[in-house]
Amino acid sequence: MALIFYSPINPADLWEAELKKHIPDLDFRRLEAPGDPAEIDMALCWKPPPGALAAFPNLKVIFSLAAGPDHLLSDPELPDVPIVRMVEPSLTGGVAEYIVLHVMRHHKAQRRFEEQQKARLWKEYFAPPAGTRRVGIMGLGAIGGEAARMLKAVGFDVAGWSRTPKQVAGVTSFHGADQLVDILARTDILVCILPKTPQTEGILNADLFAKLPQGASIVNAGRGDQLVERDLLDALESGQLSEATLDVFRTEPLPEVHPFWGHPRITVTPHSAGDPFADSGARVVAENILRFRRGEALPHLLDREAGY
Ligand code: NAP
Repeated sequence: MALIFYSPINPADLWEAELKKHIPDLDFRRLEAPGDPAEIDMALCWKPPPGALAAFPNLKVIFSLAAGPDHLLSDPELPDVPIVRMVEPSLTGGVAEYIVLHVMRHHKAQRRFEEQQKARLWKEYFAPPAGTRRVGIMGLGAIGGEAARMLKAVGFDVAGWSRTPKQVAGVTSFHGADQLVDILARTDILVCILPKTPQTEGILNADLFAKLPQGASIVNAGRGDQLVERDLLDALESGQLSEATLDVFRTEPLPEVHPFWGHPRITVTPHSAGDPFADSGARVVAENILRFRRGEALPHLLDREAGY
């Protein structure tokens, strides 16, 4: 039996070589040249073309190249087989580092200094100690939990919000729709690292921004559909929000004419917070392939009912 690979961004040659370091007899095939479709029982992919995976009648498991499964769930013909989310150190750590970087930029007013430099303006400003800055993380899973630990280690006053109760040492935990208002009320810098589900669609909206202290800022590394773009522009205009860092967008690549590109208080990054590196990611995928071959339980399975 064989594994089919597809990704518009992850190099197939590299992933094949890394996987074969762990499983030399792996039959690795590319979606572009799959051979006999009946021989494919595993898929490893990011954003496969809709309908592509339905062509494999004996597919038994899908390994996602991404933490979020929405790139698969958007396929109306997606086979009803177990989906293993990508949870591995280079991705988790990479996105957590991104979150720490941009929380620090907001905290230390880096944007102010960049503007001052453009104007050759020497004007001191000293950020308050990290311990007085309240960071709120929406999504306290694999990535949000790691970001919370890192931010805590820097010294921030950190809280997190999840669907079910969570315990992260030193981090104040909120959960469920009812407690969203509580974490917002104590948050100066809000981080969103939620999966895309019907419940999180449009969650970063005017109503939510109004529940943050005036002048709060946001970092969105979750998914673009979670942000109501017009509401963000209005909240920046009114001063309810002071700045935003966005890695994910409703339309990617972000269209050249989009107002976010030139906005003085928005930082745009091209969905680059993190990605699995082939050496580290392949090690984890290989372990899961071997578990699958032995008929063992697979970790980090997508819960189709919850949507992540
Ligand atoms: P995860 O381990 O599944 O964690 C998801 C977290 O979100 C969990 O804490 C979950 O609560 C919480 N959550 C889900 N729905 C919720 C709701 N309705 N209300 C409150 N909390 C909710 O996923 P992960 O590996 O950390 O990844 C999270 C997301 O990050 C991905 O789905 C993807 O969208 C995004 N991401 C972005 C990039 C990038 O490059 N920008 C890279 C990787 C991932 P429970 O703990 O109670 O289940």
